[in-house]
Amino acid sequence: MLSNHVTEDLSAYCNAELPPAQSRLVAEHLIGCNQCRAEFEEIKFGVKLAEQIPQFSAPDSLWLAIESQLEASPVNEKLTLPAHRPSFLRLWLPRFAAVAAVIVFAILLGALWIYTRESRPFWEVARLNGAPLIGSAPMNAKGQLALGEWLETDGSSRAQIEVATIGQVEIDPNTRVRLLETKPTEHRLELARGRMSARIWAPPRLFFVDTPSGVAADLGCAYTLEVDDAGASLLHVTSGWVALQLREIESIVPAGAACATRPGIGPGTPYFEDASDVFKSALTKLDFDSGLTEESRAPLLNQILSESRLRDTLTLWHLMYRMQGSQREQVFERMALLSPPPKEVTRDGCLRLDDKMLHLWKGYLENSWSGDSRLKKVWVDAWTRGVMGMGKR
Ligand SMILES: [Zn+2]
Repeated sequence: MLSNHVTEDLSAYCNAELPPAQSRLVAEHLIGCNQCRAEFEEIKFGVKLAEQIPQFSAPDSLWLAIESQLEASPVNEKLTLPAHRPSFLRLWLPRFAAVAAVIVFAILLGALWIYTRESRPFWEVARLNGAPLIGSAPMNAKGQLALGEWLETDGSSRAQIEVATIGQVEIDPNTRVRLLETKPTEHRLELARGRMSARIWAPPRLFFVDTPSGVAADLGCAYTLEVDDAGASLLHVTSGWVALQLREIESIVPAGAACATRPGIGPGTPYFEDASDVFKSALTKLDFDSGLTEESRAPLLNQILSESRLRDTLTLWHLMYRMQGSQREQVFERMALLSPPPKEVTRDGCLRLDDKMLHLWKGYLENSWSGDSRLKKVWVDAWTRGVMGMGKR
């Protein structure tokens, strides 16, 4: 919720130390709050930087040499000031030199470790079927996808990519992907065409997929993403949350929901895949039919509203931002009927798109969007069918 900033939780969140429910709330808040997001980016960078510092032990021989030198010196020599400067130097110089050697050795090892790691960024790829190409060369059972390289599958080949240490992506047949970026604070893949499934277990917003019509930002999740030859894409989320973005348009898609995007238009409105066909087809037209007027939009919106169940408030909540005037009022009325807003959320506030109020309401609605509890879903659907009398399934 936008009203309560999450700065105190950011460090724990970034280290994946929060319980899943709280982690999701923080992730959600980060999407809507520039202030917390800026802070998160700084913390994330710091955490990732700290992870880069290598840990290793100095060779035993060096420590043994130091110890034996120390033991060879009588205790009183260490405690009393030397009478002559030259003998002080003679005594201590080798010890300083030994310690300095350890430090220099450590720094060199660290630099070498970072250099070799940073100088060849790539992801491991495993062939699952057929003969996937990396660049233009057919790959063996195992391969490496270097920064900037394309991985391409034909009609009978599939591959699996290890996304650094944060997840896995499966590449289906007839798909083209390219590694755009891999660094501690950002891993980015381009999906030019075809279909991929991702499972990511890192803190949210480390893994991104660019498509011709929008960017999918992982919020800790599993999902599939497909892109057709015209550059249109379709996202299905199977667990967690994914944000789809193009410029200032953003759709937040939970498990069980899908969202389409179109080149030049961006993300459409997210919807649950078990919504009625009438609902889904009206939504597609509303989102992507160019040249809709307020008049031609009206019957589509009416269909969506009359078909909507409690959990379809996911769609209606996003439509509040996308509709205007009396059509936004209609969306509000329908949402308020399906799930009355909490006391602090007013009709006026929602109609003027008060972000705090809309996110507060969203916090309540999410209970009905959650796919976490199967029982809850069954109950909600039964309630929707029985009480509202408008469920389609
Ligand atoms: Zn905030």
